[in-house]
Parts: sequence; structure tokens; C-alpha cells
Amino acid sequence: AKGLGRARYCVFDPDLEARALARHQIEFDLRRALGLREFVLVYQPQNSTRDGRISGFEALLRWMQPVRGPISPAEFIPLAEEIGEIHAIGAWVIRSACFEAAGWADPTLTVAVNVSPVQFENDNIIQIVSAALKDSGLAASRLEIEVTEGVLLTESPEVLERLWSLNRMGVSIAMDDFGTGYASLSYLNSFPFSKIKIDKSFVQSEHSSRSQALISAILAIGTSLGVTTIAEGVETPDQFAAIRAIGCHSVQGYYISRPMPAEDVADYISRFDPE
Ligand code: C2E
Ligand code: CA
Ligand code: CA
Ligand code: CA
Repeated sequence: AKGLGRARYCVFDPDLEARALARHQIEFDLRRALGLREFVLVYQPQNSTRDGRISGFEALLRWMQPVRGPISPAEFIPLAEEIGEIHAIGAWVIRSACFEAAGWADPTLTVAVNVSPVQFENDNIIQIVSAALKDSGLAASRLEIEVTEGVLLTESPEVLERLWSLNRMGVSIAMDDFGTGYASLSYLNSFPFSKIKIDKSFVQSEHSSRSQALISAILAIGTSLGVTTIAEGVETPDQFAAIRAIGCHSVQGYYISRPMPAEDVADYISRFDPE
């Protein structure tokens, strides 16, 4: 037929080939990264908007890849989830964060840890958390697990039960990136969380009157459910002032501090959290 002669696919795309190779190499390196001790956690403070005091820190993962340099979790977490490495890496994150937080001078500070929905597909998550708490001596009330709406999209009763188990252990759960996922509001009924994290897309939006309205609405949801709210990605004095005026409980962002290496946390606490 007419035109068929042109309908040919390019089977060898050198770009595609290079990308496939690069992915293969990253995957290879990722499987070895934990054993080679290439992961570190950095910590970003969370502060009260009312008096500026530190209430805790969020632990954020960094892959210090010797050849390619530091790699962002946004880049390698999806791959780790895909190849199943997330279970081992995620367990290391929980354990390390508990041990590091147990050493902080102020025994009231919380540590927030990001846990992937994939980790909740495995029953081990409960043992991993309870062993980390027991071995580090960190009080369960000081550990906060940050999950995204993605954790509820499976609508799996097992996943929900695991969240409740953590809740019964005294671990708190924060809803990360609130309002950016695809879950419906009805999930808020069944799910034991005690904090809402307002995503930086709302905080940083150019259309400030609309985003102010959205932040106020999120805050109203939080207030009526009896949970606290924290705004993330606060970078400028104006954003901070707006967040405080709206009545958000806490803030996190470059305006307060960038994430810092674990070894700087003690010093930061002694300077900004005196007794
Ligand atoms: P997230 O949980 O929403 O974390 C907040 C991200 O915003 C972090 O990026 C943080 O460094 C960055 N950030 C903090 N303050 C500001 C600010 O004022 N402005 C801007 N523009 N950004 C700010 P990071 O560390 O690159 O992490 C990216 C994402 O990777 C995280 O988003 C989280 O979803 C994921 N992630 C990080 N650590 C872990 C981990 O240990 N496990 C899992 N499963 N995911 C992690
Ligand atoms: Ca987070
Ligand atoms: Ca977030
Ligand atoms: Ca995010």
C-alpha cells in the first residue's frame, strides 16, 4: 500500500542505547551502594512558627556516588523501588535516623523519616521500625514516618493495618506532599496520621492569593481533624510571613536552614535550641 515504505522504525537509536547503558550502570551501582557505605542522611530542621523553636528534623537521603558525585533521592528512589533495593535502603534509613536522633542533646526533638509506599507492601516494616527503636533506645514518640498519598492508592487492608500498627507503637505519621497526589479526601477517614505537610508547590506558588486560599483550606482540614500542619519549601521572608499569618504550626525550608550533615546537627541544636 501507499506510504508503507516510509513507515520504518529506527531500531538502533544511539541515544536510547546510551541511556539504557547509563541506567544499567546506575542500577549496578545502586545494588552495591549500601554495602559500600555510600549513603548518608542529611537533616533539615522543622521549627515552630510561633516561637521559632526547633521541634525536630527531617532525615533526607543522599547517595555519595564516588564517580558521579552526590545523587538526589528524586533520581534514585524510583529506581530503587523498581528493582526492590528500596527495602534494604529504607531499613538502613530508619535505623540510622533512630540511632542518630537518639544521640541528640535534646531528648524532645523528633526525627522524621521518609518511607516509600513500596516498603509498606512488606510486613517487615513493623519489625524494622520496632527493632530500630529498641536497639537505638529512641522513644517511639520521637519517630515520625512521612508517607505520601501513594501509600493509600493500593487500598490494601494490609498496608492500612501496618500504618495502624505503627500508630499503636506510638510512632506518628505525617502526610507528606499533601494535596499533590491522586488520593481522594475520603482516605483521611481511615488513616492514622497526626500531621499534614503542605507541599512546597502551594508555598512557592506565584499566584499567591489562590495559593493562600488553598493553604488556608488545608489548614482548616487539619484543624478540624485535630492534626498539626507544617509548610515545607519556605525559602523567603515573605513566604515565612504568609505561612505564619495563616496560622501554620511549623515551617521547614531554606529560609530556616538547608539540610545539614549529621555531624553538624549537635552544633545546630546547641546554638538554636538552648535548653
Ligand atoms: P520530600 O520528602 O518532599 O522532601 C523535601 C525536599 O525538598 C528535599 O529534597 C529537601 O532537600 C527539599 N527542600 C527543603 N527545603 C527546601 C526549600 O526551601 N526549597 C526547595 N526548593 N527545596 C527544599 P531532597 O532531599 O532532594 O529529597 C527529594 C525527595 O526524595 C523527598 O521529597 C522524598 O520524597 C524523597 N526522599 C528523600 N529521602 C528519602 C528517604 O530516605 N527515603 C525515601 N523513600 N524517599 C526519600
Ligand atoms: Ca518528606
Ligand atoms: Ca514533601
Ligand atoms: Ca516532594
